[in-house]
Amino acid sequence: METKIENWREKELSIEEVFEKYPEIPKIVILKTDVHRRGYILSEKAQDLFNKGDYQSQADTIFGKKEGENKIPIGLVFRDGTSLVGGYYTNYGIRDPYVIDDIDGKFFLTDNGKVYEEVEFWREPDFYRKKTSKGTPMGEVVNVRPQRLNVAISRVCHFWDKPGEGCKYCNVGINGIDSVKKGIPDLFDYDEVAEAVAEAVKQKGRYAMIMVTTGSILTGKKVFDDEVDEIIKAFEKIKPIFKTNDLKVQLIASAYDKEQLKRLKEATGIIGYTSDIEVMNKELFEWICPGKAAHIGYDEWKKRIFDAVEVFGEGNVNSGIVGGVELAQPNGFKTEEEALEKYLAEAEDFAKHGVSIAYIVWGVCGIFHNQVVPSLDYYVALAKGLNEINIKYNLKPYFDDYRRCGNHPNTDIGRIYW
Ligand code: SF4
Repeated sequence: METKIENWREKELSIEEVFEKYPEIPKIVILKTDVHRRGYILSEKAQDLFNKGDYQSQADTIFGKKEGENKIPIGLVFRDGTSLVGGYYTNYGIRDPYVIDDIDGKFFLTDNGKVYEEVEFWREPDFYRKKTSKGTPMGEVVNVRPQRLNVAISRVCHFWDKPGEGCKYCNVGINGIDSVKKGIPDLFDYDEVAEAVAEAVKQKGRYAMIMVTTGSILTGKKVFDDEVDEIIKAFEKIKPIFKTNDLKVQLIASAYDKEQLKRLKEATGIIGYTSDIEVMNKELFEWICPGKAAHIGYDEWKKRIFDAVEVFGEGNVNSGIVGGVELAQPNGFKTEEEALEKYLAEAEDFAKHGVSIAYIVWGVCGIFHNQVVPSLDYYVALAKGLNEINIKYNLKPYFDDYRRCGNHPNTDIGRIYW
């Protein structure tokens, strides 16, 4: 059970104070970041309303059903159309979560009795409850955000194969291994995936793009060769559904070498490549992401992302980080000031090589479930700093902006300045 921070509201700037400190950052982005940081729960009335709606719930995820009477939301949609992924209060218990209340039949975010914004939940897409020709519910084969189709190649990240090598903030690996233990195959059936994608795109106007991702597959002649092969095999099934060679697809995958990147681009036609460095500091990367460090290493992972710019072009490559994990203890930075300074300097090095950084708000889980996420002040300063770096280096990663993703505080403010 996580530790609660006593009187946490007295120990950090309140959201009103953060609004005042950063007048140039839209309040809605600051609020959304704070909801991500602290999580949310539903009042009884709001839960009743949610249960009756046609919303996507956690029961539909690829990792199986959550038991219980109440449906558990999978994400929120804000007034500006951006989405918040997850966030339902689970183990954010170190600070109080926001409460979503039902006010006159609408959902509102509230905190400490104050009403903030109206929010919506993700609507279930039309194809979700249909079945593939093999009888699998399509919602178990392909999942979605409000504006994006998410295609996964594999359910498992093989950095978890060797005990102690999974990333310490991650529970994807544990969930994947559990699903395989239950007899669910490691790889998705690409025929079923293609059927689900074909059915999904019949809902005209819903999707802006497709994101393809996979857990790391370490086998092959070279590390990740099999991963690249699997992605290509999946694309052979999916691509004929579309009438273009340049698919608006963002691939989020392992760090490939140049030969693998070229092979992938040629065979698939994808336009955007993301490989997550996760932690922008060599020593901390080695502590927090031991599998990535052991198989590739920080410097090589970084070099491979830089090389990808040659293959995909500037503005088409970025790297994700888990914002805040750099302050995990005992080895992380000791102050938010130090973390911010070191992080922005390292992000600038990525930008100089044509790579922008997108951060997600760290939700504590996995081996790090007892850690404490940083202050809202830190998260806003990080978003502002990263956005300013993008402006300075003229980086416009449209494939991962607020419209197409909406899960990164720094790209959420990207639109204000361009
Ligand atoms: S690479 Fe790390 S963060 Fe990504 S799924 Fe594997 S263990 Fe989790």
